[in-house]
Amino acid sequence: MMDLQTGEFLGKNIGHFIISSERVAHVQIGNNLEHALLVLTKTGYTAIPVLDPAYKFHGLISSPLILDAIMGLERIEFEKLEHLVVEDVMNRNVPTLIVKDPLEKGLKLLINHPFVCTVDEEGYFEGILTRRVVLKQLNALVHQLNVKKTD
Ligand code: AMP
Repeated sequence: MMDLQTGEFLGKNIGHFIISSERVAHVQIGNNLEHALLVLTKTGYTAIPVLDPAYKFHGLISSPLILDAIMGLERIEFEKLEHLVVEDVMNRNVPTLIVKDPLEKGLKLLINHPFVCTVDEEGYFEGILTRRVVLKQLNALVHQLNVKKTD
């Protein structure tokens, strides 16, 4: 059984906790904003990873970024959705983790980010570490600790 006090839990590899790439909704750098907005709306996520055709990670695209890109002075210029591509508006300045990183590093990043993308040593996308998954595991451990205390 994993232990919070010994550091066994926080020292585990990120790889144990990620949602793997094939289960993660994503868009490609060359997709237009209309496609990206469609994927975001249909999946219900506010932000998703941006990959290239070789599955290398490049950044994140989100509904606020898309809306900002098509915001005109007097109206929302929806016609721009078709012409702008994800690469033009995505956020490249996001932290990443590698699968061998300890969970402790991921936990720190999850304070400010709802999820963090995980890549291999060459930058190929492996999956995402989400707050939900980590909080679920932490909750189970805290529950175990409480049970031990009352034993
Ligand atoms: P959660 O902690 O499950 O609420 O997820 C936090 C964020 O991670 C979501 O708002 C999405 O931006 C992203 N996310 C979670 N699961 C997926 C998925 N399967 N595909 C793409 N993005 C995801």
